[in-house]
This record gives sequence, structure tokens and C-alpha cells, in this order.
Amino acid sequence: MTDHQDPSLAIIDQTVAKAVAAAGFWAESSAAVRAGLLRGLADALERQQAELVAIADRESGLGEARLNGEVARTAFQLRGFASEVEAGVPYRHVVSEAVAGAPPAGRPALVRVQRALGPVAMFSASNFPFAFSVLGGDTASALAAGCPVVVKTHSGHPQLSRAVFELAAAVVRQQGLPEGVLTLIDNTSRAGGTYLVQHPGIAAVAFTGSYQGGKALWQAANDRPRPVPFYGELGSINPLVALPAALEKDSEGLAKTLAASITLGCGQFCTSPGLIVLLASELSERFVAQLAAAIAPIATHRMLTPGMQQGFEAAAATVASHARAVFEPAADGVGPAPRLFATEAAAFIANPHLHEEMFGPAALVVSAQSPAQIIEVLQAVGGSLTTTLWGAEAPSEDNRQLLRAAEAISGRVLFGGVPTGVAVCHAQQHGGPWPSSTTPQTTSVGYAALERFLRPVALQDAPAWVLG
Ligand code: NAP
Repeated sequence: MTDHQDPSLAIIDQTVAKAVAAAGFWAESSAAVRAGLLRGLADALERQQAELVAIADRESGLGEARLNGEVARTAFQLRGFASEVEAGVPYRHVVSEAVAGAPPAGRPALVRVQRALGPVAMFSASNFPFAFSVLGGDTASALAAGCPVVVKTHSGHPQLSRAVFELAAAVVRQQGLPEGVLTLIDNTSRAGGTYLVQHPGIAAVAFTGSYQGGKALWQAANDRPRPVPFYGELGSINPLVALPAALEKDSEGLAKTLAASITLGCGQFCTSPGLIVLLASELSERFVAQLAAAIAPIATHRMLTPGMQQGFEAAAATVASHARAVFEPAADGVGPAPRLFATEAAAFIANPHLHEEMFGPAALVVSAQSPAQIIEVLQAVGGSLTTTLWGAEAPSEDNRQLLRAAEAISGRVLFGGVPTGVAVCHAQQHGGPWPSSTTPQTTSVGYAALERFLRPVALQDAPAWVLG
């Protein structure tokens, strides 16, 4: 694949070729070798933490406290996947012994094993410069599964991406591993990103970003002569239903908690609660007033990129033209002033413009006339990473139906707390029905993420040397 007019495409060819060359070795690597790399990467990241956080802060404006927390999460994740590898998770197999006699009861011997897919193209996220970038969750889970990773850097933090990659490449060299186990593509165009997704050497894609970008690349992966799995984690509006049972107890405390969650990281979280669903009542009106009082004075930090702020302003303007502002936002400071909009459930259900994500410090309050109408609101959302149900502790029929509706549209249902903050553990599910992710049966956070990069193969009547 040469003779490109765009020289960056030739670099992609060379980079993918390195990943392809390393794929066989890495797929067959032992648990000790694989876990050794993951732990080595975590150690190296922590050794250079101060210097890396300074670069990340300059590029992203996310602040040292948040970025230090993110490095801790990234190292924790790398070590967690190392433990999964040591526990034998990617090497697990299932045995069905041979049974003598005629089918269907009689059968040959079968062993179902898992094989690494091959080189994974990993699109870094803008909003997690460590935890979902060069050495983030997608990279850690793909490496743990035995797949080389080709990182496509995000244009929002190029220097950090390069610095993290350099330390990672040094670890790969020190451990005597092939260079192609982890490679980097930076300074490429959108055409380059599409070319990477369609490259015959790429066996799967992991993506975190916008609906528009994710959908374009998902389409590109499916338009290949031989389509490959595309694991896209896209946008989400994350409904939060606040029922009277919760508001009766501590509506002021909940309003403050919610205001902090909506504005956390300047609202640049895929789990930011963007839709607040209430039952029309005086209690709910008081809650909206308390939420407005809590959120209006919050000063946000700058957004990740000027494009991100423009995107937020445009999305907020669209919602503003279809709903009413709960308060007049203050003038923008370093970051955009928080916004809160409100509308009735019937208007929300009928108007797709109100279902769009505002990626930034804003939310839309929707008032429903009945529990059944709350369910209709959730159904109109269609697909979301999370749904939060405050005040659904009692085992009533209404709450059962609400839970059913929440599970139908989202990958994680919370009964307390706020959706921002996604724990890395075995039971985590980060991925919901379209449009929140392209493959809702998988997760991009938590240890089950490595299953995305393994493919089952059933070995029938295999000789002893095969099963070794
Ligand atoms: P993004 O624009 O989807 O970009 C993610 C990655 O995909 C980047 O590497 C980008 O390349 C690439 N890309 C995007 N569109 C592409 C296309 N059509 N063809 C080929 N490659 C493409 O995500 P983002 O940068 O995180 O966010 C940008 C906007 O999306 C923001 O304004 C925000 O409002 C919205 N958004 C983001 C998220 C999120 O979770 N990050 C969620 C919802 C909405 P470049 O590096 O060249 O841009």
C-alpha cells in the first residue's frame, strides 16, 4: 500500500506493518510477559507523573488535581488488567468431552479457546488525556487480550500523547519486546483516521468521542471489504429521575450534589447528567429552584479545546430555542457559565432537538405528569450510558416498571449518587444502546473490556499437541 499522495498515509502503512509483525508473538505471549509489560507501563507512568501532569494541564486545562487522579486511575487500570492476565482470563477455555453414540447426545470432543483478534486501532479521547488516551483503558484491555495497539492520538493533547508514548516505547524496548506491540500515529488528518480504520492490517477499532466522529468511523469500519469490530463509546444524555421519595428527604443536598456533577470537568464527561426528569409538583419546583441556586454561581474551568466550547455553545443555543432558560446565565468566566433549561415531558418526547447532548456544563429539566410519562421520556431518549433513579428504594410496581425502562435504554442504572465517576472493576458496564455506544453488549470500562478483543475458536477432536 504505497504511492500515497498524502505522506501521512505511508506512515500509517509502516506503523500498521510493525503491529502486524508483532501480532503473532503478542497473541502467544505468556501471562508473565504480558503482565510484565502492563505493570512496567504503570510504573513508568507514575515515575514521570509530575512532568506529564504539567504537560496535560497546559494542553487540556483540566487542572492538576483531576489529572493526578487520572494518572492514578490509569496506573490502577494497567495493573488491574495485569492481574486479570495473571489470573488466566484471556487464556480461559471451555471443554466438552466426547460422548459416544448418535447425535444429538453423542458428540466429538470440543475445546472452545479464545484467540486475540490482532492489531487494534485505538482512538484516544479528548476528555481523558490519560485514562482514555495512549495508555488508557482501551490500550490496557487490548494489550491484556494479546492484541498490539496502534494509537491514534487526539489532536487536543499532542505533546502529552507523544511524551506518554515515548516512555511506553522505552518500556517495550527495555523488556525486549517487538516495537510493534505499541505504536503511535500522530499529526494525521481525518482522512488518515479513516484510512487507519480501513487498513487491512487492523483487526478491530476502539473509539471514545463524539456521536458524529464515532458514527463516521463506525461506517468506515463497516464499509471495508471485510468489516471489523468497531467498539465506539459515543455521546450520552444520562437521564436522572428524581422522584418525590428522594426529594422529600433532602432536596437541597441533592440539588448541590447534582449541580457539582453537571459542572464537573466543565461538563465534559460522557456520563454527565444532562436530563433531569421530575414529576410535576411543588416539591419538584422547589428542587429546580435549589438546583438553579446551586449551579448558577459555579465557576467552570476552560473547555478542552476552542472547538469544544463552540460545540457546547451551539448545542446550548439549540436547546434554548426549544425550551425555557431556568435562570439567566452569568457572563462566561474562564469557562462557559452553567446553563439550566426546562420543558414539559410532552414537548421533550415530541422534539428530537431536545434529545441532543450538550457536551458542557448544562442540563435540561423535564416535568412529567405521571410515572407512566416518565417512562415515555426515557423511551424517547433511546440509548444512554447511564440512567439514575433517585427515590426508587420501595419495591412498588411503578418502580419496577421504571427500572425496566431504565435497563432498556442504558448500560448502568444508579439508585444513588451521580453518574459521573465510573469505577474500574469486574461488574462495571460502560456502554449502552445506540447512540451511546456502537456495541452495547460490551463495555469500555472495567475488566470485561478485554473480552472485546478476543474471538472464540472451537477446536474439535484436536490432537494433544494442539491443546498442549
Ligand atoms: P471527536 O470529534 O469524535 O474526535 C474523536 C477522534 O475521532 C479524534 O481522533 C478525531 O480526530 C477523530 N474523528 C472525528 N471525526 C472524524 C471523522 N469524521 N473522520 C475521521 N476521524 C474523525 O470527539 P472529541 O474530540 O472528543 O469531541 C469533539 C466534539 O464532540 C466536541 O465538540 C463535543 O461537543 C462532542 N462530544 C464529545 C464527546 C466525548 O466523550 N469526548 C461526547 C459527546 C460529544 P481529530 O483528532 O483530528 O479531531
